[in-house]
Amino acid sequence: MDTMRTRILAGLFMLMTIIASSLSADVPKPYTPVKALVGEFRCLGRMTKLGPMLLPTQITAADKPLLISPIHLAADAGAFDGIKGKANLISNDGNSAVWEWKGGSSAFTIAVRMTAQCDGFQWYDITLTPKQPVKLSSLRLEVPRSEPTARYIHAAAFQWGGQLTSGLREYGGKWNQKFVPYVWLGDEDRGLAWTAESAQGWRLDADTHALHIETNGGTALFVTTFLDHEETISSPIKISFGLQATPVKPVSFAWRAKARIFHDIHYQDGEPDAQGKILLDTLKDAGVKTVVFHDMWPAYYGQLIPEKPEELRKLIAECHKRGMRMLVYIGYGLARNAPEMQVKGRHDEWSVLPLIPWVPGYKPEFRTFDATCARSGFQDWLVAGIDKLFTDYDLDGLYFDGTTEAWKCENEAHGCGWRDKDGNLHPDNPVLAVRTMMRRIADTVRKHKPDAMLDAHMSASLTMPTLSFMDSYWDGEQYETYTAADKVEIPLDAFRAEFMGYAHGLDAEFLCYINRPFTTDEAIAIAGLHGVEVRPDGIAQVDPVSRLWAVYDRFGMPSAKWLPYWKGSGVECGDSSVKASAWSKDGRALLFVSHLKREPLTTVLHLDRKQLGLGKGTLNATDALTGAVLPTNGDSLSLSFTSMEYRLIEVRE
Ligand SMILES: [Zn+2]
Repeated sequence: MDTMRTRILAGLFMLMTIIASSLSADVPKPYTPVKALVGEFRCLGRMTKLGPMLLPTQITAADKPLLISPIHLAADAGAFDGIKGKANLISNDGNSAVWEWKGGSSAFTIAVRMTAQCDGFQWYDITLTPKQPVKLSSLRLEVPRSEPTARYIHAAAFQWGGQLTSGLREYGGKWNQKFVPYVWLGDEDRGLAWTAESAQGWRLDADTHALHIETNGGTALFVTTFLDHEETISSPIKISFGLQATPVKPVSFAWRAKARIFHDIHYQDGEPDAQGKILLDTLKDAGVKTVVFHDMWPAYYGQLIPEKPEELRKLIAECHKRGMRMLVYIGYGLARNAPEMQVKGRHDEWSVLPLIPWVPGYKPEFRTFDATCARSGFQDWLVAGIDKLFTDYDLDGLYFDGTTEAWKCENEAHGCGWRDKDGNLHPDNPVLAVRTMMRRIADTVRKHKPDAMLDAHMSASLTMPTLSFMDSYWDGEQYETYTAADKVEIPLDAFRAEFMGYAHGLDAEFLCYINRPFTTDEAIAIAGLHGVEVRPDGIAQVDPVSRLWAVYDRFGMPSAKWLPYWKGSGVECGDSSVKASAWSKDGRALLFVSHLKREPLTTVLHLDRKQLGLGKGTLNATDALTGAVLPTNGDSLSLSFTSMEYRLIEVRE
């Protein structure tokens, strides 16, 4: 009997193991299988309680509740009175769980289908069917956020204009906007994103108020308005949108210390140059750990085969010999003249409409292309091509340029665009298709190389539904149209909203071409203060960044306690144009002090020893970059700046 029982138990255990592993087999790291109950959705780092219509009654992210009261649909008094219904959990394979809710209110029969995925993305399809024709003057989704967790806004339109990145308080606490496909509200550590692919079915007289935020006391109320004037509703209303709490995954300085990306290298960079120097050696000595081959690795823009196959193999091998990883560029289209684009009808079926052309000055006959849509055949072509690329070459990851953008598209040839009651065509932003494409690419790459690095350049569209399966993002190109003469300043609240990834769940790097608009040191001054690195773009930016890496390594920064200025770093600055963040470790502190005005200044820093983990004896301060000793006066330190500059200062007893 015992043997039989043991066998049965062993069999059961094996079966459970199989079920468990099959559940988690497809869930990409670091995500964990979805945990679903009828009234609850859990995923990595986040928990959502589901109420009527499966809408969240509370969402917890990074250990704090995001809502002041439940998310709900609101309409004229009475329309949602007496709402009741029944939720069912239909399926959960670990990757994705599906719920349905069927019920009604005094005015509507209501059907809801909600899908929630391992990265925390939830998609709602809600159908309101009037029981009899009902007169309504307002219908809206209300998301009542706890204001302290909604102090920053990032609204993105998958283009350089039409978005907002700001502190919400700094913006005045109020916001009205035409439809944009993505709105995130958060603090420095967490947030909640809302997304929709279009305003299809929204019945608005004043579309400038489609999206609305109002802060009042401790509440930041985010509202999407579907109806703003009196209408008699006699046919079903369909409402679709997504929600995603963030951070989608933890962000660590340790990951970044292993990444250290250089942009960009070319076929010849594993060979000695005219002076006998090999660029890869220079980069290795500087501390670079990852290199990116930009868009010129294939003959035509967007091709997925190298122009020089054997040279690519050799270059990869030369990188690996030096312990460096190599990524290649993936874009958002395929050159008009590429042989693969000559298939009849392909260009017109793949392209977004209206066309978004790119006509570069250099080699336009090989590189001119039109942006493609993830809803078209381009998606399958791209995924299959990447699969083949990783079968044929020992690459270590991919760099995406615009691939994560859900470009505005009304190309009916592949199912984009929608027509209003007068037959006018309107565009979609195909967020779901781009999300699917990026997930498929991530799965494909990691099938070949489980620890592959996926890095996205997406300036101005930090949209987690399309980015959550990436590791890192590179953001800042939206400022390149300015020059040094414009003396651009990025408000610190805007930088905290979009350019540091902690609250979103991706490692962030700042992009700055030299003097467009910042010098490298100015870019480091603003980015480094936020614990964000400036990615060297070309050899001229390597030295200034490499010097920081050496200091961080010497100090042991990845395992130190991070004390950013917005949480009280323990460094009080005597002038408001100076901010300081710090790392603390083993009785030492590393201060990142930035002066953010382009004018001279002498100021005094006052150090809070307890906060910085410093002892009670005499303080010794050194410039961590030059080794120069800096005089201290008790707990104070005097610093002089000539312009917008930073200092890295190590302080110990
Ligand atoms: Zn399209």
